[in-house]
Amino acid sequence: MPTIPERMPFIGGRSRPTGRILDVRAPQSGDPVTRVHRSGPAEIEAAIDASVQGFEAMRGAPAHRRAGILLKISEEVARRREELAGILALEAGKPLKAGRAEVDRCAHTFQVASEEAKRLGGEVIPFDVVPWGEGRLGVLRRFPLGPIAGITPFNFPLNLTAHKIAPAIAAGASIVIKPASQTPSPAILLAEIAAGAGAPPGAVNVVPAAAADVGPLVEDDRLRMLTFTGSPVVGWDLKRRAPRKRVTLELGGNAGAIVCAGASLDHAADRIVFGGFSYAGQSCISVQRVLVERPAWDRFMDILTARVRDLRLGDPTEEATDVGPMISVAEAERAEAWIDEALGGGAEIATGGRRRDAFLEPTILTRTTPEMKVNCLEIFAPVVTATPFDDLEEALRIVNDSRYGLQAGIFTPDVEAAWRAYETLEVGGVVINDVPSFRVDHMPYGGVKDSGTGREGLRWAIEEMTEPRLLVWTRLG
Ligand code: NAP
Repeated sequence: MPTIPERMPFIGGRSRPTGRILDVRAPQSGDPVTRVHRSGPAEIEAAIDASVQGFEAMRGAPAHRRAGILLKISEEVARRREELAGILALEAGKPLKAGRAEVDRCAHTFQVASEEAKRLGGEVIPFDVVPWGEGRLGVLRRFPLGPIAGITPFNFPLNLTAHKIAPAIAAGASIVIKPASQTPSPAILLAEIAAGAGAPPGAVNVVPAAAADVGPLVEDDRLRMLTFTGSPVVGWDLKRRAPRKRVTLELGGNAGAIVCAGASLDHAADRIVFGGFSYAGQSCISVQRVLVERPAWDRFMDILTARVRDLRLGDPTEEATDVGPMISVAEAERAEAWIDEALGGGAEIATGGRRRDAFLEPTILTRTTPEMKVNCLEIFAPVVTATPFDDLEEALRIVNDSRYGLQAGIFTPDVEAAWRAYETLEVGGVVINDVPSFRVDHMPYGGVKDSGTGREGLRWAIEEMTEPRLLVWTRLG
């Protein structure tokens, strides 16, 4: 029987046992896989204090040192690829293939942050454009806001935590992270790795705490920013509770993918299989609503359905598995109930639909209506709806008919259609000839409407974590 690792809050540069143990259980088996020492109010207070001290060290650290720390973290993450992918399989139920991809992305995130740390320039503003500005010069540079709070979700617990820690270090800030209760280890390991790479004590702190205890991370004025990734209902509530703070929200969606009749249907189907079913559809930019131009409907559905049936559902720790469990039995039951609601309203199953424990078969639904939960809410499960459309304007209207707006995709060889989609779709990013699920970590990423506010992607996250300060330089004599 392998020993179960113990993980502890990481505060002020060291691990702090608390003795209040929570067993994290694997979604696929219910077996305990990690013993976590939970943080309570005292540890959260200590982490905020530590981040204030960490900020003093970070704000004075020269760019080459911050860049060096980030590069070392990137290298260490890459070196520990198998270990980290194994942890993602056990705590998050993420298939190894997808876990390795997340580790690779995390290493890239820190590498880009290392490069960005060296590019924090500024602007020179000429003042002599008016007589009373003669002999003066303006310099505008960005300075770190202060200590930052980050709250992260279960689904990409390594790379989405990296999207908070890496820009904070690059910007010269400090951070306190509260990871999701189901997946605490990746954040704790990143904090340890950061300290090993030379991050000063208090620069990166991690408090594995219950959501009910993390009020101070939202409300304490010493933390100058809250960067939250998670569900819309929680995110918007936290923003309401922190009216004077900078708050960025990276939330969910019900992403649409449009397949036009002239597109390569093989390519579109391959990508929709990836975008809709990777990590059991538990990604904020998972393909949820597929719209297919009517002349291509029969052929496209044949190809898509066949490929989805080929996906191997199973244990995430096995190499061959394509689709693992959902994060919990309760979440799988919720998704099943939404499918049942759709079937009760006249929807049909093209493939999938059955559930065993936390495992839900990759499912395609047809004949759904816009007001069914499977369309109008975020399903966050291996479930895709497919609907035919007759003209592009109708498809664009359906995609926009959503409370969310993260990313959207359109498969088309028609330049005009692509341009029209880019100009019309109310989302943070439009992807031409690929799924809305496409992301590289250095691109500006974030949503509109209920999907959030602010942008991540290193350069943009660094901007969110800093503020401009003007210098007016006056020449005497
Ligand atoms: P969640 O339930 O909102 O939880 C996210 C984080 O918030 C967790 O650490 C959670 O802690 C914490 N939390 C929950 N309630 C809280 C409260 N009242 N006060 C303070 N913290 C609280 O989301 P999830 O189920 O982990 O993740 C799935 C959601 O995240 C989906 O909606 C998905 O679309 C979204 N997401 C968005 C992005 C993006 O970049 N836009 C990326 C990934 C995921 P506990 O775990 O202890 O409850």
